[in-house]
Amino acid sequence: MMKYVDVILPLPLPNTFTYSVPEEWADSVRIGMRVVVPFGKKKMYTAVVYLVHTVMPTVYEAKDIVCLLDNAPILRRPQMKFWEWISSYYQAFLGDVYQAAVPAGLKLESETRVCINPDYEAETVLSEKEEKVLMALSDGKPTTVLELNKVTEMRDVMPTLKALLDKGAVEISEELTDKFRVKTDTFVRMSAEAMQEDNLRKIFDDLGRAKKQLDVLMMYIDLSKCLIPAKYREVSRKELMEKSGASAAVLAGLVERGVLETYLKEIGRLDISDVSTSAVYPLNEFQQVAIKEIEKQFIEKPVVLLHGVTSSGKTEIYIHLINKVLAEGKQVLYLVPEIALTTQLTTRLKRVFGKRLGVYHSKFSDAERVEIWNNVLNDKTYDVIIGVRSSIFLPFRQLGLIIVDEEHESSYKQYDPAPRYHARNAAIVLASMHAAKTLLGTATPAIETYQNAQTGKFGLVELSQRHEDMAMPEILVVDTKEAYRKKQMESHFTDTLLERIAKALQNKEQVILFQNRRGYAPYIECKACAYVPHCKNCDVSLTVHKAFNTLTCHYCGYTEPIPNICPACKMPGTLSTKGFGTEKIEDEIKQIFPDARVSRMDLDTTRSKKSYEKIISDFEQHKVDILIGTQMVSKGLDFERVSLVGILNADNMLNFPDFRAHERAFQLMAQVSGRAGRKNKRGTVILQTSSPEHPIIGQVIRNDYQAMFATQCDERKLFKYPPYFRIIQIVLRHRDSIILNQAAARMAVDLRAVFNNRVLGPNVPAVSRIQNMYIKHILLKFEVEASAEKAKDILRQVTTNLQSEPKFKSLWINLDVDPM
Ligand code: ADP
Ligand code: ZN
Repeated sequence: MMKYVDVILPLPLPNTFTYSVPEEWADSVRIGMRVVVPFGKKKMYTAVVYLVHTVMPTVYEAKDIVCLLDNAPILRRPQMKFWEWISSYYQAFLGDVYQAAVPAGLKLESETRVCINPDYEAETVLSEKEEKVLMALSDGKPTTVLELNKVTEMRDVMPTLKALLDKGAVEISEELTDKFRVKTDTFVRMSAEAMQEDNLRKIFDDLGRAKKQLDVLMMYIDLSKCLIPAKYREVSRKELMEKSGASAAVLAGLVERGVLETYLKEIGRLDISDVSTSAVYPLNEFQQVAIKEIEKQFIEKPVVLLHGVTSSGKTEIYIHLINKVLAEGKQVLYLVPEIALTTQLTTRLKRVFGKRLGVYHSKFSDAERVEIWNNVLNDKTYDVIIGVRSSIFLPFRQLGLIIVDEEHESSYKQYDPAPRYHARNAAIVLASMHAAKTLLGTATPAIETYQNAQTGKFGLVELSQRHEDMAMPEILVVDTKEAYRKKQMESHFTDTLLERIAKALQNKEQVILFQNRRGYAPYIECKACAYVPHCKNCDVSLTVHKAFNTLTCHYCGYTEPIPNICPACKMPGTLSTKGFGTEKIEDEIKQIFPDARVSRMDLDTTRSKKSYEKIISDFEQHKVDILIGTQMVSKGLDFERVSLVGILNADNMLNFPDFRAHERAFQLMAQVSGRAGRKNKRGTVILQTSSPEHPIIGQVIRNDYQAMFATQCDERKLFKYPPYFRIIQIVLRHRDSIILNQAAARMAVDLRAVFNNRVLGPNVPAVSRIQNMYIKHILLKFEVEASAEKAKDILRQVTTNLQSEPKFKSLWINLDVDPM
């Protein structure tokens, strides 16, 4: 009987697609394996098998799969179930989930080009098929997988290609070089024969006349310590040549003599160097109580919230819990927001878990991600993964615990593209699929989370003692309105703040200055005609970046030079900056404190993982006195010598037009304040604001989370927001604003027919055009008790109806479930 597979394509399509399986793979094909399939006009994709069956499709003729790529599934059983949940809950296509979940390197496509690796030295025997593929590539030109299929007349060129890639004979050309291929390097070692003492002596004698070869050999012995087995390390050909300064010919001479030999070795891109593992710190008395309580609550509750003040040692508690779960032979996923994934944290964990710890960072190359994926899949070394949002998709065998650190962080939510999932909430579902527990940890819980803990849905453990009794920082509020009036301000700094900075510098202490806005200034304005330069693609003003002398759009990246004369009224010298960002703060602080070492940490200075880590380690080693930054400086960093934190402007956080603005302002200020203080000295926070009487400011000063929670809950209940109401945001986009308006109006009418006054809008969002697409929002709010599934079904139907109209063909509709 003919076998068929239903596959998921890496495309935003609503369905799976059926293909027939040729005889040769019929027995081996399984759910979760990858197959190459033709789709559309001559395109090929790496799809994932979703179902294996024998039912011939009736509406269309099934095409054959081109080949089966795997001997074993690359997904595990619970994963497919998890994908389905994500797809259904967040109203995303399975293809979108596949795209987000699987690293690109595992999705080789027909357009991928390969070529012969010029450095390849044939040392292994190749199969007939492999020879055939190499022949086809012998002209040296990069060739697509699709073309290779044709030229070689092999329908199944992919597996052969994969073998050749693994052997290093073939490489993926162009920008895809790093994908897919196992990286190898040529290493050098002494031949077994040469290693025998008698022989070695003879070799030295012989080499007396070949001075250059002798030098290289001595260098090798020195580098590798091959004569002292306990200290032996491998030496690559490259290293040996560099260190000895010898030519390839000299080295080849030694190989010819049979003294040295070369070998290929797979080199990991990941640092799994064997850091010596050390015992964990014993928990202090408060931590001991907390961990006992967590374990007790886990008996009944699948999720527990650890609400512990900053520096209470939550990480230590996690470490102890992880150890226990590992002892049961289960795996642990430790989720962190991207910016908290620093060397500081990973070093601390590596010290305890050594090679068992895998790190999954979004700044890693795709090849590195493939490597971690395979490592987890093949149950190699990692059983603790610390990672960002997308690490929830790794192929875990048996999770015992998921930790979500800084669970309140909004960066756990993926905005774009679909699936627009929330990693904390998805993690809870993932854990339950593994019958595992979830621990949420933070000093400032999300309102939703704390509400769940209040109603008993989650367990709750409070930890209010800082480690070693460090005092909570003293928070001084400075009224900027008054300071302006009394002329006690220099640019954006109050005299109080400047005095404190000077004092801290004098005491050789460090300072953190926080401003929640990057760039030099949010915009420039003409003093004569009030003209403000805007992005030509988006409906936003352009941000000033003085270092590059540019105006840049933070939505689409559009950039232009800062004009000398006003483009509107043509007056020279009238353009002046408005507001201030981190870059301006840096500029001015350097002028005010010319002797201080100043550094800045924001999106613009941390494009690469390296630059980011350098800023942190420089600050850690006190090579920097003042660190200026956006919310990046508030996350999970632990610095010894920070005695002062300055919050330059609380106003823009408080006035942000979003129902979560106050909650976020509290969280940010509490977190950044937590960076101040040392073991035996109380830290200080200077909080600059023009509205010192704002309730949130008072709550921050008193570190009164409960009060903040109570006020916010009252407001949310009143205005029908989470946690009392669910929100689904419908985002409509179109190049033509008139068509967009029609579509949005129609959709609102259709939805009101079902949901009545639970429908809000259509509204024009704060940024109403991005990359030349006009945008409108419709909000659906409904009671948490109502069936979300039903609501989503109706919503889908309305959406599909609308999009099936020819007029609205190029209308984009995104659903964002639980938007942040
Ligand atoms: P949190 O995650 O709650 O902000 P951390 O776990 O980072 O707190 O702890 C703050 C500091 O206190 C860290 O430097 C940590 O090493 C130290 N610390 C916490 N608990 C202990 C302990 N039981 N023994 C030794 N040091 C500890
Ligand atoms: Zn733009």
